[in-house]
Order: sequence, then C-alpha cells, then structure tokens
Amino acid sequence: MIEYTYMKKLVFFIFFVVIVTNIFASTLGDDEYTCPLCGMKFKSRTSYSGYIEGRNLDLRPYGAIMIPSPIHKCPNCNFVFNNNFFTGNEIMTIEEALKKNNIFEKESDMPKYYYLAREAEIVNRNLTDIIWLFLSAVWENSPEWGNEDETKKNKLINITIEYINKLNKTDESYNEYQLIKLDLLRRSGQFIEAMEQIKKIKKNKEFYKDYIIKIIDLQIELIKMKNQEEHPLPSKEIIEQSNVKKHWILRFFNFIKNIIIKIIENAKTAFNKAVTASPPNGGSGYTKTQSGLRPLCVFVPPHLGQGSLLRNAL
Ligand SMILES: [Zn+2]
Repeated sequence: MIEYTYMKKLVFFIFFVVIVTNIFASTLGDDEYTCPLCGMKFKSRTSYSGYIEGRNLDLRPYGAIMIPSPIHKCPNCNFVFNNNFFTGNEIMTIEEALKKNNIFEKESDMPKYYYLAREAEIVNRNLTDIIWLFLSAVWENSPEWGNEDETKKNKLINITIEYINKLNKTDESYNEYQLIKLDLLRRSGQFIEAMEQIKKIKKNKEFYKDYIIKIIDLQIELIKMKNQEEHPLPSKEIIEQSNVKKHWILRFFNFIKNIIIKIIENAKTAFNKAVTASPPNGGSGYTKTQSGLRPLCVFVPPHLGQGSLLRNAL
C-alpha cells in the first residue's frame, strides 16, 4: 500500500527540482563582436550562464549549458577567436602563418574549435590545451550543434588521439588523457585498439584502482556490445540489485526515488559548480561583450595537474 505522505513528499520534491533547474537554466543570445584580425563587426552566438551537472566518459561536461562554449568565426577573414584568448602579438603571428598556409581554405567546413586548435598550435600553446581544443571540436561536431557528420567525427577523433599520443608519460594529466583516448577509440568503433588501450591502463597499477576500475568495467561492457554512444561517467552510488524479486509497485517507487535522488544530487552539484567565467590561459581576462553582458566560457581545460581533471569531474 502506498502511503499518502510519501506521495506528498514526491510532489514536493518534483516542484523543488523544477524550481532549482529553472534557476540554473542556460542562457544564450547573439552578441556583437569585432574581429581582432580584420576589424569586421558581426553577430555571434554567446553563452551567458549555465551549469555543469556531470561529465561523460570523455570528460565532456553536460548539464544546462552549451558545450563546447560558443566561440566566434569572422565571416570576412575566417579567423576564429574568443575573448582575449590570443594576445595582440599572437594574432599577428597567426595572420602571418595564415598567409603561407590558409587552414580555412585547405580544410573548409570544419568545426570552429578545430581552427582554434590549429591557431593555438601556430602560437605554441601547451599540448594539453591544444588537445582539449581538438576534443572540443569532437564535441562541436554533434547533433545539438546541428552538424553531426560521421566522417568528420572519426577524423576529429583520430586527430585528437594523435595529439594525446604526443603526451609524455611524465605529464600530469597523462593518465586522464589515456581514459579520454579509450573513450574516443570506442566511440569511433576502434574496438580492438580500445581493448589494447585497456590493457595498457591496467598495467599502470598506481592509476588502475578504485573508481578507475569502475570506469574500465563500464568501457569493457560497452565495447562488448559494440556501443559507440556517449555515456556519462559511472555513478558512484551502489545500485540496488535485489529489486527484481520485489513487487512491481515497490520497484516503480524505488525507480522514481532513485531518479529524484539523482536529480537532487545534480541540483546540489549545480549549486557548487555553478560555472563562473574565468580568464583563459594567455588572456588578460574577460571584457564585456558589445551588449554589456559578460560571456561565459568553459572552453579551456579544467585546471589540469595532479590528476585534477578527473577529480573535478566527480
Ligand atoms: Zn576577420
């Protein structure tokens, strides 16, 4: 028998969740930008607010937020930029390099983040930053951006892997990028290579323990099913397995209860992780856009180092 008070609690929780979700809804708009290379003024999509609920197996953040954050491509000269990401000198270096090798003409119709990664490479940015920008290009090539293309997806994934392979074992985020590489291999259907990657990760006893085992177990399961979809990182909660023998009403309420717990947990995380704009590497900080609003951007990697990329994700 279902108790009436239980139902009341349920209704209250749903209202709570709806309110919290609305407070943290993502805000997008069009703002005016001036191309730092040619001076052209144009409107471009901008994100003003949002929050991260969690991360996928490739550490792609998800939640009420546009991921990757919108960046801007000049309709006149094609230069891709975001507020203060490049210094004046760097823009001049990129301009010179583009005269000799115009990446926009050579490889047209690529995601904006792909060009940003190439530009970052011209001015010798950190390898981890460049990898993160290529990874963002993989995310940009997705249905929610209205431009998913299977051939392009595999091309972008392979480029990202190529750059991950350049990382040194001594790099602080080396291990985390091995997990990202594993997910990219699976998502592009390179299952044999993915299993090889798992072997490699398992050999690293220092890293392969606790929660990492859970991630690898999930990947093995997905690889066995030849699943190429995106998946969130496994939950840390212990899933109740004994549900099967219970009455269907109990199972149903347990199911609803678990969803509500999960949503409340996410809402709590949102309170803690409500994203604030922070200046990207090499930039001097955010300036207001033409509309006077402050743009939100999470396109730089979460602060890497000492395994914090994954720790931040949890
Ligand atoms: Zn321009």
